Amino acid sequence: MDYPGNLFVVAAPSGAGKSSLVKALLELDSVVKPSVSHTTRPPRGQEKDGREYIFVSPAVFDAMVQADGFVEWAEVHGHRYGTSRHAIAALMESGADVVLEIDFHGAMAIRRVFSNTVSIFILPPSWDELRLRLERRGEDSAHTIELRLRNAALEVAQVENFDFVIINDSFDRALFDLKAIVHAQRLKFAVQRRARAQTFKSLNIP
Ligand code: 5GP
Repeated sequence: MDYPGNLFVVAAPSGAGKSSLVKALLELDSVVKPSVSHTTRPPRGQEKDGREYIFVSPAVFDAMVQADGFVEWAEVHGHRYGTSRHAIAALMESGADVVLEIDFHGAMAIRRVFSNTVSIFILPPSWDELRLRLERRGEDSAHTIELRLRNAALEVAQVENFDFVIINDSFDRALFDLKAIVHAQRLKFAVQRRARAQTFKSLNIP
């Protein structure tokens, strides 16, 4: 399946800084729109239904799976998360550049469905730093941090399947890299021909 905008999927182990980077990108670039996933996990802190996630019960999630309502879904850290067909289709039809912040299983599934997917993996600078960030975040128990670190080792092993890699040792540098990837996609021949159709026409480029 193909569509006019760009589709970016961003994956990373928890603590690598994925959410902060994507949030900063969305604030800087109004053409990029997030796809809001459904999840069975309860809201955390300031999270609002419909903004970070659409929070649903396991029964509603099950019904959506049965009705083939998800392009992909996965269980991550004991909760289910899914990209709804409806949400992503609406964004795509609007011609937006869509960004999905999902786990690596989801990223690979999306790539199989949408051939123009640009996949980006964010790495922490070191295991020590990742542990420190998870501890500083103060959201998780020692047990959960160990679990996240074990999962992180499995996730990082998937990095070779991604188109781009960003190492988040400095937030500003990592954001620059993310913006550079988004910008470079917009300069690809097929995208430019669509976006700058008039210019191409005046230059007699078919
Ligand atoms: P959190 O609970 O910390 O917000 O997210 C946990 C993990 O689930 C993160 O890696 C996040 O990117 C991933 N995730 C969020 N939404 C989706 C989704 O729709 N599909 C998949 N496969 N993973 C998701």
